[in-house]
Amino acid sequence: MSTTNILLKVNNLKKYFPQKSGVLKRPKNFVRAVDGISFEINEEETFSLVGESGCGKSTTGRSILRLHEPTSGEILYNGKNILNYSTRDFRKLRKDLQMIFQDPYSSLNPRMTVKKLLMEPLLTHNICTKKEAEERIIAIADKVGLAKEQINRHPHEFSGGQRQRIGIARALVLNPKVVILDEAVSALDVSIQAQILNLLIELQEELKLTYLFISHDLNVVRHVSDRVGVMYLGQMMEMAKTEELYSDPLHPYTKSLLSAIPSSDPTEKKERIILQGDVPDPSNPPSGCPFRLRCPMAHERCKVEEPMYQEVKDNHWVACHLYNEIN
Ligand code: SF4
Repeated sequence: MSTTNILLKVNNLKKYFPQKSGVLKRPKNFVRAVDGISFEINEEETFSLVGESGCGKSTTGRSILRLHEPTSGEILYNGKNILNYSTRDFRKLRKDLQMIFQDPYSSLNPRMTVKKLLMEPLLTHNICTKKEAEERIIAIADKVGLAKEQINRHPHEFSGGQRQRIGIARALVLNPKVVILDEAVSALDVSIQAQILNLLIELQEELKLTYLFISHDLNVVRHVSDRVGVMYLGQMMEMAKTEELYSDPLHPYTKSLLSAIPSSDPTEKKERIILQGDVPDPSNPPSGCPFRLRCPMAHERCKVEEPMYQEVKDNHWVACHLYNEIN
């Protein structure tokens, strides 16, 4: 169940990657992977970021963990801007903020047994004795559905779904508060996906976790999220409670994404909105509205003026001139 205490707040976050060229490798231009997004996540809530590949959602997750050092903005955890923390202080805090990746296999050292993989973060953070660590490992393995005897095996001896269980155990063994799930079930078969999603929901309730769920799959997002933010070209286009976003999308981009979801009701007639063209180059975004080159509703104003991102209904935010005009 969600509470209303804000645990994580992202303010005007930007992450620009320099594009270097020439003999001196001077930055010629910048890829604006994340271009000024803001959102907050309440304790025990699941907030999801959706959008096409390259929209900046994964870079946002990695920037929160400072795997990419943000270009500017604020990331407040429990009210404190963690971008001001020294490397030492951030390392101490890092156990609270964990990440689960799409491909657990590439993030698991194949030469280590599951037990060693789970022991490693505990010893790195020096938070318990070896005996306590062993007890904790058995307990977390049990929680994610791995038998005691399986922890002496190596990652290659497991199926994709079981490997993701190891990835989850590795993230949770440190008792984090916030877990960032970056396409965590995207590589799995649909039936295994459902098992892992249900496991994540159970673990959230039991361990009182707060999730930032990053995915391109709108069906999965609907199943797990309390609120959803829709990103395009590094910016937030729309953000609302899940049911409201799915039943009453306002932004033309959100409408097009939702129109592509197959309906579970075969009698329902759905009009698919096909977007023209590709996502523009984030090092050379269009003038005005970032979505205007693909937007079926684009008009003159969209070319010259960037729409304001504003709250147009209770807890429902959108960046589109059509809603500037209504309000
Ligand atoms: Fe489309 Fe214009 Fe709205 Fe952008 S501001 S989403 S181009 S109508």
